[in-house]
Amino acid sequence: MDNHYRAEPYRIKMVETIKQTTKEKRIEYLKNAGYNPFSLRSEDVYIDLLTDSGTGAMSQEQWAALMRGDEAYAGSQSFYRLEGVVKTITQYRYFIPAHQGRGAEQVVLPQLVKNDGMVFISNIHFDTTRAHVELAGARAIDCVIDACYDVETYHPFKGNFDTEKLAEIIRSKGPENVAGIIMTVTNNSAGGQPISMENMRTVSALAKSYRIPVIIDGARYAENAYFVKQREAGYQNRSILSISQELFQLADIFLMSAKKDGLSNMGGIIAIKDDEALFTKCRTYIVPMEGFPTYGGLSGRDMDALAIGLQEALDEDYLAHRIDQVRYLGDRLKAAGVPVQYPIGGHAVFVDCGTIAPHIPFDQFPAQSVVNELYIEAGVRAVEIGSFLLGRDPDTNENLQNPKEWMRLTIPRRTYTRNHLDVVADAVIAVYQRRTSLKGLCFDYEPPVLRHFTARLKPIE
Ligand SMILES: *Cc1c(COP(=O)(O)O)cnc(C)c1O
Repeated sequence: MDNHYRAEPYRIKMVETIKQTTKEKRIEYLKNAGYNPFSLRSEDVYIDLLTDSGTGAMSQEQWAALMRGDEAYAGSQSFYRLEGVVKTITQYRYFIPAHQGRGAEQVVLPQLVKNDGMVFISNIHFDTTRAHVELAGARAIDCVIDACYDVETYHPFKGNFDTEKLAEIIRSKGPENVAGIIMTVTNNSAGGQPISMENMRTVSALAKSYRIPVIIDGARYAENAYFVKQREAGYQNRSILSISQELFQLADIFLMSAKKDGLSNMGGIIAIKDDEALFTKCRTYIVPMEGFPTYGGLSGRDMDALAIGLQEALDEDYLAHRIDQVRYLGDRLKAAGVPVQYPIGGHAVFVDCGTIAPHIPFDQFPAQSVVNELYIEAGVRAVEIGSFLLGRDPDTNENLQNPKEWMRLTIPRRTYTRNHLDVVADAVIAVYQRRTSLKGLCFDYEPPVLRHFTARLKPIE
């Protein structure tokens, strides 16, 4: 299994032209973008691995479904089709659509914060989740196993919670001050690493004993289910759907950025197992935030495309190829000596730039420096997941140091071929070989929240 890679389980029906630019031009584009590839124009990017969020290709069934979209403001048929699929997959009682994952977060998370000084605990909070926790007046505590940061050593489930530490945090904060436990599935910020069912079962039981709500931040739950099937005893003969259903039973609330395993360009999901009071609050609150509860910021056609995408994402041939494709890129880099999070995760290859550029201090953003050099090398756009992204401590305003300085090479779903990935691998290896010449960066402009999206930087000479 581990020595062969699958070819795409689809063929191309429509193409989108992309073009290579010259190195001279790319140096100029990057300078104009404030040394922050978020500010590049996509036409100046050859292979775009910024994110897997909403960047995948839809299937012919999804494109066909767009025509069935019912654009009624209230009670759209598209809503009921999507609701049916979400309820089948989650087996939860309540569903509300949102325009994307953070839309779902902004509606639900504040409902769980009952008083000052509350905390959320997650394996690792995703960046928008952390932002919404803080905007709701709470604090975010991460509690992942130490093995997560041991890049070189194989662990089948590096997304797991450290359950002893979790119990300790709950006791020290007091269970009444824990607003919720957020299981990020897969664990995006540490390499798309899966969580085992066993670990989630332990977390769920602990939360239940203290009556703390469990939230699944499940943008990539289908990829996680695939890893569980591959790596956890007892799941080899189970369908991805039934593994997913088992996972949902361990939580009370499911929040999803449907731009990932929804195989759609836009969409978010709020599903609530059985808490009617919470559902009523969210349904009230969503109107001014996202829209009427039967569209939640989505057009009818988006809801129809999502209803189909959610089902396609559970297809095992699709998942096998997807996970294989990411592993192919990771294996090529690892073979060339580039330090990557190992094993390779579900949606991205995470390159350990703290090891590549130890001469650049964390607050001069070594991974951002590698990201920028990669763009100059081949027009490949990656993204920094490190101290630049993490931002400042909300209490002291000091720069926080991320435990790892990652460059994330995120693979959009059903979009690029292995030839593209070879171009990416060659370029990363070339940058790696000239790593000692990389320079740190400082701010030209620093926004107060989620700074990495719009900051302007300059190289330190
Ligand atoms: C993408 C993502 C989100 C936020 O979703 P958006 O659709 O980008 O708003 C939240 N959590 C995780 C784990 C994600 O990957």
